Amino acid sequence: MRKFPTIDGVMDWTSKEACPFLQQFEEHFRKKKRGCWVWNDDRSKRARFSVRIEGWVHQESAARTAWRFYRGPIPSGLLVCHTCDQDYCVNPEHLFLGTYADNTQDCIAKGRFVGNAKLRVDDILNIRRRCEDGESHSSIARDYPVGRMAIGKICRGKRWSHVKDSA
Ligand SMILES: [Zn+2]
Repeated sequence: MRKFPTIDGVMDWTSKEACPFLQQFEEHFRKKKRGCWVWNDDRSKRARFSVRIEGWVHQESAARTAWRFYRGPIPSGLLVCHTCDQDYCVNPEHLFLGTYADNTQDCIAKGRFVGNAKLRVDDILNIRRRCEDGESHSSIARDYPVGRMAIGKICRGKRWSHVKDSA
């Protein structure tokens, strides 16, 4: 199979000609009560969708494909991100276009990782002190741009173990 020269140049994804592909797409997810449209309902599979037209094949993440069908083209360099934090969700209401930086901020906000630039050495030491004083991780997390899990890791020394209190 050849690859599409450009994804958007070959087909208008929001047009009538794309309807048969949209129908195929819509067979792959189930609408859940909480509003997420969960792809394949099988978490072991990667959420991907392929379209074949006249010998061309285009495959990408189901969320990106959902954006094309329900919203429109994806400007180059932008990511399709989730407000619901479910990578398997294809509900266009739960999707937004973001940059790589936005995606990183989003991860930081949800505590998926501690960005080096987000916390200074003082912060780390303060976080550790507050932990030692018995404050809960979620209470400490309210004062920093990281989540409860990240605070826990800092307290246990799994992150930032190179930062030592010299006082
Ligand atoms: Zn969702």
